[in-house]
Amino acid sequence: MPDCIFCKIASGEIPAEIIYEDDSVVAFPDINPVAPVHVIIIPKNHFVTTLDMSEEAPGLFGSMLRASSEVARLKGIAESGFRLILNTNADGGQDVFHVHMHLMGGEPIGKLRAK
Ligand code: AMP
Ligand code: ZN
Repeated sequence: MPDCIFCKIASGEIPAEIIYEDDSVVAFPDINPVAPVHVIIIPKNHFVTTLDMSEEAPGLFGSMLRASSEVARLKGIAESGFRLILNTNADGGQDVFHVHMHLMGGEPIGKLRAK
């Protein structure tokens, strides 16, 4: 996808600190972190939303999950804990339309509260 910022990071066109990489996945720091550790994990291939990816390449979620465990260990927060988030479309708060997983930790992440 020519104008996709995460495709450009995956291809190396835009430099980023690559924390973890394998055949199908790349992880790099979120540019606007909301926790001491805030990492973005993406598939190298472009999928607009989790809806598309779950149809076309559901196995990639397994690769992203495996990457998240590696990143958590590399960042030293596997035991203290972390949160994984996948935002989909407007109500989910998705701003970048290339599937990505947020990994957040390094301090207690607030509980989700009932309305
Ligand atoms: P979302 O709201 O789930 O679409 O999250 C998009 C995330 O990508 C936000 O947390 C942004 O701070 C992050 N982000 C946007 N551009 C970049 C970039 N160039 N490098 C790293 N993170 C980015
Ligand atoms: Zn993309």
